[in-house]
Amino acid sequence: MVTLTYKNRTTLLQDGQSVLDTLLERGEPIPHACKQGICQSCVLKATEGEVPTAAQVGLKTTQKAQNYFLSCLCKPTQDLTLLDCDDLGMKATAYVVATKQLTPSIYAVWLEIEGDFTYKAGQYINLTRPCDQLTRSYSIAGVQTSSPAKIELHIKVFEGGEMSNWLSSGLVGISRQISVRGPMGNCFYLPEFKEKNMLLLGYGTGLAPLYGILQDALNQGHKGTIHLYHWGASSDDLYYRNEISALIKEHPNVVYKTGLEVMEERGEKRSSMSKELEQSLSGDACALIKEDLSGLKDWKIFLCGSEAKVNKARRVFYLAGADLSDIYADAFFTWQTAEAIEKVS
Ligand SMILES: Cc1cc2nc3c(=O)[nH]c(=O)nc-3n(C[C@H](O)[C@H](O)[C@H](O)COP(=O)(O)OP(=O)(O)OC[C@H]3O[C@@H](n4cnc5c(N)ncnc54)[C@H](O)[C@@H]3O)c2cc1C
Repeated sequence: MVTLTYKNRTTLLQDGQSVLDTLLERGEPIPHACKQGICQSCVLKATEGEVPTAAQVGLKTTQKAQNYFLSCLCKPTQDLTLLDCDDLGMKATAYVVATKQLTPSIYAVWLEIEGDFTYKAGQYINLTRPCDQLTRSYSIAGVQTSSPAKIELHIKVFEGGEMSNWLSSGLVGISRQISVRGPMGNCFYLPEFKEKNMLLLGYGTGLAPLYGILQDALNQGHKGTIHLYHWGASSDDLYYRNEISALIKEHPNVVYKTGLEVMEERGEKRSSMSKELEQSLSGDACALIKEDLSGLKDWKIFLCGSEAKVNKARRVFYLAGADLSDIYADAFFTWQTAEAIEKVS
């Protein structure tokens, strides 16, 4: 039997159970979110014992060398002594300083982060609510323009959604203090992409990282064409049409399309959304993109939004000629997805 020692207490690990689940069962408030090894919010450090390499997927070489590991993926075969790891990435305190409702279910939320915090547009951060360690990941929707950093997030509010409702409630300041860890993810623009054609496909708030990447690319004088597709399940998912239209006005190399998977009855929605409806396409985004763009070899492709959509798009564009190493994706995993996967397997 394998034992875990954490905070001077030793616990027996049940066969097949992860370090994260064992510690949560013991009542330890370990921050966690996706339980899929994606969000990296549950990272711990082993001070004694060997960590399985499968529990270090996605960590930097320097982090692996220091025995950092993802506790959700870790099913050790040796006894481990564990430490919290406060020095992985930057950890900072932030405050919600403003919120704005963009559609009935989507809000822009601005955080001001104390101290030095640098990021690239398109990366994501993990937010942890101090009172109960509730942790969720959110993509950064803009380029860094100030220090201390002011970060824009686009948040879809779900009925019963703990973090999305808390962040978007309209309350700002000290009562909306939150801890930030990151930035993380490799969904961002690099100067060597300058001459390349780029395809950006975002579903719902999957627009957030793409809005940042688009700004970054234009600021850096991108020369290739950029095709931005913003897709939604309903018109409530479509937002920022005016902001994007203004941003690309002077850039004839940018093509911007919005669409709905199923076209809603015109006039059924609130009048504020009618412009989006009038100008939106309908149908499967991947099929339409394949019609628009012949061959995706050498394109840089960015896919963001719900996990199922992103995974499907990755498969479709790979089969359409894109190289997997040219596809950058941020799948918005949720703990519900993780639980569903656990139940099936
Ligand atoms: C890398 C990464 C980046 C992300 N970036 C963003 C982002 O920029 N903007 C954003 O809005 N979200 C983003 N997410 C998702 C986000 O982390 C949360 O999962 C989401 O905000 C729901 O959290 P919650 O606490 O409000 O809901 P929870 O309390 O976790 O869930 C409550 C209820 O909400 C419903 N629900 C929750 N998530 C979904 C879903 N995806 N689809 C359908 N129903 C759901 C379910 O009914 C659930 O029972 C990202 C996730 C990852 C992993």
